[in-house]
Amino acid sequence: MEWVEDVVGSEDGPAPINPVVAVVGRPNVGKSTLVNRFIGRRQAVVEDKPGVTRDRVAYDAYWNGRQFTVVDTGGWIPDAKDRAAAIARQAEIAVDTADVVVFVVDATVGATDVDEAAVRMLRASRKPVILVANKADNNAIEIEATSLWSLGLGEPQAVSALHGRGSGDLLDAILAAIPEAPVIVEDRPRGPRRVALVGRPNVGKSSLLNKLSGEERSVVDSVAGTTVDPVDSLVTVGGEVWQFVDTAGLRKRAGQASGTEYFASLRTQAAIEAAEVAIVLLDSSEVISEQDQRLLTMVVEAGRALVIAFNKWDLVDADRRWYLDKEIERELKRIPWAARINVSARTGRAVDKLAPALRTALASWEQRIPTGQLNQWLTALVQATPHPVRGGKAPRVLFATQAGVAPPRFVIFSTGPLDAGYVRFVERKLREEFGFEGSPIDISVRTRR
Ligand code: GDP
Ligand code: GDP
Repeated sequence: MEWVEDVVGSEDGPAPINPVVAVVGRPNVGKSTLVNRFIGRRQAVVEDKPGVTRDRVAYDAYWNGRQFTVVDTGGWIPDAKDRAAAIARQAEIAVDTADVVVFVVDATVGATDVDEAAVRMLRASRKPVILVANKADNNAIEIEATSLWSLGLGEPQAVSALHGRGSGDLLDAILAAIPEAPVIVEDRPRGPRRVALVGRPNVGKSSLLNKLSGEERSVVDSVAGTTVDPVDSLVTVGGEVWQFVDTAGLRKRAGQASGTEYFASLRTQAAIEAAEVAIVLLDSSEVISEQDQRLLTMVVEAGRALVIAFNKWDLVDADRRWYLDKEIERELKRIPWAARINVSARTGRAVDKLAPALRTALASWEQRIPTGQLNQWLTALVQATPHPVRGGKAPRVLFATQAGVAPPRFVIFSTGPLDAGYVRFVERKLREEFGFEGSPIDISVRTRR
């Protein structure tokens, strides 16, 4: 599985993400206060001391039923000596990463030389820029703020981030400037969760399905309000009805002559695509084969949740166990996140562990990390372990958002391409922090356009 993609590197193109609004400006003009206003919670840290790196940078914001990601750029250039250059650079990075730039000026001070440095950069860019005259706490300052027209960024939006004055109009202006938000919550059709039970011939798929359906007298004909494909089976497992997809194909495959493997594989692929979670059944009495690996890859590449079940555990003795442990270490190293269950379709051993594992995998598959929480964690991570320096330079990780679920997809914004190894490191740490057991994760990197 190739995890890294640059701007448009993935097969499906770049992950659609919420529009990004970057808030840019000198220290102390009120960026954090404004961001707090946008997210409607007193959650962001307001820092009075210039030069203090903030620990939170990006948040989910909602206004009039639309959502966007708001980025507080305050911590990006923490200790530059040349203020004007630093702020221009901050604006430049913001322009690269954002769909809209909100440029904040302190209306009680007016435009300073440092502001002018940023404005030159912003005006040269093609990005929409909204000029905010902040600290317009009263009419007098608001009138004063009209002089900021001279900056050439259009009409100044007079706002008091502290008191809320004008912030509704500003949010309307932002929404008018950003592209329509992509629909990111795909509504799952109601009904039983769909499971693909896959494995090479003779691993015990039909035996396991028979065990599951026999044991609980649990094959059901229908579930109210849903239509189920006739080739599928509804089976109660662990007190819940599951839709096992293409079990007809599974029965047909039993005792099939060789030579049809290609079509069997196409059918397996289709079953995986139709499912939300796959149980890949392996025969623990035999070595993990290339065919097993292909099935696992199919599931991961299809982006489905995964449970690995080692069947025929009744045949495993101490000797075999020793070799199997070595094989697992070697062959399944690339998917340490998948749950492994040792079952026996013959004796019924541990078959009751399947349902909980499926539920965990599906919960991970649909897990969403709020942007604020994600970035609080990410900022600490990249501070503790920055990207390695290559040729005297290191790309800076700026912020990240979760672009979608099922499977979870993340987009990291950075000032340059990230090493594949560093992205893997981030994924490992992300899993340590947030779990995602049983689900693949997709991480892509967005850099300068
Ligand atoms: P940042 O460095 O640009 O993020 O600025 P902060 O949000 O940390 O704000 C700097 C200072 O300005 C804080 O003391 C805020 O309380 C204050 N401030 C922010 N917005 C307003 C405002 O609209 N009116 C007034 N009077 N003060 C504000
Ligand atoms: P399928 O081709 O994957 O559907 O596999 P089957 O369910 O037809 O099983 C293939 C063979 O393995 C049959 O002879 C089964 O009796 C046997 N088998 C299935 N599960 C187990 C198990 O848990 N333990 C043992 N010892 N044999 C099993």
